[in-house]
Amino acid sequence: MSHNLKITNSLTRQKEIFKPINPKAITMYACGPTVYDNPHVGNARTLIVFDTLFRVLKKIYAKVSYVRNITDIDDKIIEESKNKKKSISKITEDVTKVFHENCKSLNCLLPTKEPKATDHIDEMIKMTESLIKKNFAYEVKGHVYFSVSSFKDYGKLSNKDLDELKTGSRIEVSKLKKDPIDFVLWKPSDINDPGWDSPWGRGRPGWHLECSVMSEKYLGKHFDIHGGGLDLIFPHHENEIAQSCSNNSSERFSNYWVHNGFVTINKEKMSKSLGNIISISEAVNKYSGQVVRLALLSAHYSQPLDWNDRLLEDQKSTIEKWYQLYEDSNVEIPLDIIDALLDDLNTPGFIAKIHELYNSANKGDDKSKKLFNSACKLIGLFDLNKNEWESLKKTNTDISEELILKKIAARSSAKQNGDFKLADQIRDELLNKGIIIEDQKDKTTWKYK
Ligand code: AMP
Ligand code: ZN
Repeated sequence: MSHNLKITNSLTRQKEIFKPINPKAITMYACGPTVYDNPHVGNARTLIVFDTLFRVLKKIYAKVSYVRNITDIDDKIIEESKNKKKSISKITEDVTKVFHENCKSLNCLLPTKEPKATDHIDEMIKMTESLIKKNFAYEVKGHVYFSVSSFKDYGKLSNKDLDELKTGSRIEVSKLKKDPIDFVLWKPSDINDPGWDSPWGRGRPGWHLECSVMSEKYLGKHFDIHGGGLDLIFPHHENEIAQSCSNNSSERFSNYWVHNGFVTINKEKMSKSLGNIISISEAVNKYSGQVVRLALLSAHYSQPLDWNDRLLEDQKSTIEKWYQLYEDSNVEIPLDIIDALLDDLNTPGFIAKIHELYNSANKGDDKSKKLFNSACKLIGLFDLNKNEWESLKKTNTDISEELILKKIAARSSAKQNGDFKLADQIRDELLNKGIIIEDQKDKTTWKYK
């Protein structure tokens, strides 16, 4: 099929035509969550960007393998377990469960494979042994470090040179490292911390190793796309490249590197350490999965996206409006309609196209109506049919129909008595609960916002 998918490759900092290694089997890996705390809206952006890219790739290619890992061993998890006095397994299981519920409510497709780091410790030990054998890594007192200067392309992805890195890393020099920029492949674990037996004693892997191991295991040594949030370029992805290319004596690992920008609040990155997070569950409960999804697609993936009520209210009105033309159909969308998506996953451009289709459909064009519905579904909207959407809205408000009718009656009598202040008060109170009332000629009707 002729198409021209373009994506911006962080490795070359250029928008490039996507040329798959094997058009019959596309391969994509995205770094998934570290399961130490319930995922927030920033994490949701990575999820949705790569879910949407997965959908677009599936539209063009017959077979797409998408691997998204779960990091279930990490110092942040160990710390959380100590702080909360909760076992590591309880934390990782609980958070993974919430993460899966979140994925479902945001209508993310299941990835082809969702490997967990702790299921791949043996392979990580093997890769570490191999890197030592090939002189890319060395052991000191139960620690194994990757020797950064042994990899000539180090810094290519993050556009950093070694001198700059050396100056930057002086602050956290470990006496054991031969060079301050070397990074850890394996480290010893305290008796109370999780650990696995290894040739270097009981310990656990460094963070970057898991993605080198799992991407190779499920996608091969050389695959098409590797993604994640912008903060992963350095050191995580830079280190993955160093590990994998060194071990495989290859210049190639992933051909395209795709990174999404941050979700911000008042222009600051949403992150647990800044204490400005909104969990996915909270946002979905307040606004619904579809509204959250549309909000996250409303800016180009490479740009920052500021999260605020105004943004969410706007998306809510859009979804509400679009549901007026919901139809239980799904037609094949011609590629020219999705040209914005093919152009570096330009979701705001595609959303503008959906608005156009909506407008034509609203004028009675049946073909546009079908295309409009399929376009919404293509980017993961309209997962609920109209009835399900209406009943979701009902469960999202905590006011019963009976009470609504009582309030409307109270408002009518207030109006009859000339107490317009009270009438307005009741109208606002209902509005705050998500209920809009409309005065018709001889009666008052209501609907969910
Ligand atoms: P973590 O659970 O911290 O390992 O992050 C999981 C994914 O979410 C990674 O790809 C991060 O880059 C991404 N991420 C974390 N915070 C944000 C944010 N504020 N905006 C966008 N992506 C984020
Ligand atoms: Zn990773």
